[in-house]
Amino acid sequence: MGRERGRGAPAAHVVCSGDELALGRIANTNAAWLSRRLSDLGFDVRRHVVVPDHLEPLAAEIRAAARAARLVILSGGLGPTVDDLTREAAARAAGRRLVRSAAALAAIRRFFARRGRPMPENNARQADLPAGAVLLRNPVGTAPGFALAVGRAFVAALPGVPAELRPMFDSRVVPLLRRRFPRRPAVAATELDTIGLPESEVDRRLAGIASPDGNPRLSLMVRDAIVTARFFARGRTGAEARRVLRSALGPARRVLGAHVFGHDGMDVSDAVAALLLERRLTLSVAESCTGGLIGHLLTRVPGISAALVEDVVTYANEAKVKRLGVSAALIRRRGAVSAEVAAAMAEGSQRASGADASLAVTGIAGPGGGTAAKPVGLVYVAARFRGATTVREFRLPGDRAMVQARAARLALDHLRRRIMGG
Ligand code: ATP
Ligand code: MG
Repeated sequence: MGRERGRGAPAAHVVCSGDELALGRIANTNAAWLSRRLSDLGFDVRRHVVVPDHLEPLAAEIRAAARAARLVILSGGLGPTVDDLTREAAARAAGRRLVRSAAALAAIRRFFARRGRPMPENNARQADLPAGAVLLRNPVGTAPGFALAVGRAFVAALPGVPAELRPMFDSRVVPLLRRRFPRRPAVAATELDTIGLPESEVDRRLAGIASPDGNPRLSLMVRDAIVTARFFARGRTGAEARRVLRSALGPARRVLGAHVFGHDGMDVSDAVAALLLERRLTLSVAESCTGGLIGHLLTRVPGISAALVEDVVTYANEAKVKRLGVSAALIRRRGAVSAEVAAAMAEGSQRASGADASLAVTGIAGPGGGTAAKPVGLVYVAARFRGATTVREFRLPGDRAMVQARAARLALDHLRRRIMGG
């Protein structure tokens, strides 16, 4: 196996086999995990392929991947049963025979010996590797992996079980890749987490700073009202990649302004918790349509007990009256989902808790309960801080879970901005 000579990022394909994947019974988390690792290592992942457990189609995909990419990672199909076909398929693609590896067989025997069990005869098949392949030992399970050349490509086959694939990739494949592809570009990446802008607006503001095919490369991800902008830079050296990254991050932060609440996959609750703890502020929460989600998100953060006093879930109107002192007449007049009731909830929560700040949410999560005037997705969030209560109205798209997830983040963001004085 020769050395990679090209200057750009070498192309990589990920080929996963398994009927469960093709039938949609399990999600292809191996492809996601491998792609993340490979791009961090400076490879350009161009394709994911899923193939059911059939020998000839799998061999054909391996052949096609090996023609198109310099690196091919195979996942799955290394078990001892008849539907585990990767060894045979890789051998066909490489035009080689299967040869029983004494080292692989010994490792499988040791696996069973350590557990005090005899090795089932079936498992011997797992030691059959394509002639010329390098054995990749499996520190966790029985299925050994292997690496071999198919045409000009370097192909590595790993077991499908994520708890086996991940350590094998890191400990067995990465060292081979470093040797085989010494001239990969160095990479540096950062994510800016934003809230309060639609994805298209984040995209518009970042135009001219980074793009999907530039350096740094920009990609946008959306989850729970949070839009994350990922900047992925390449350079000849780590220092150069970091320089390229920095040159984009400054301008990006400027155009996104206070919408940036964190970096590298933070949740708004992490940012709010950090802010409260840093400023030694206490908080109480009153929730309706989010059913305790805000309290849940905040209590994931270790040490939050120094800031969070209480979270009261007042679902029924009477609970809003009884626990928070919201006026029953106000609820009758304006409805439980209204700016006025949200404000009264925040005020009642602060009165009851004595906290420095309070946050309240009321809304219609759906699918039922909406009207023309108050449709599903209508949410009011109220924050009380330094003697002033402010309310924001949102009309959120999505199903019940999405409305709840977004309402919780937007409420936390409203509080964050109040505390920061925005
Ligand atoms: P085994 O020795 O366990 O049979 P194997 O290499 O043959 O290993 P598979 O039979 O393909 O692996 O998959 C075993 C299990 O690993 C699957 O049932 C599934 O739970 C999980 N798995 C397989 N492929 C993937 C994948 N691409 N993403 C996430 N999980 C996977
Ligand atoms: Mg299997």
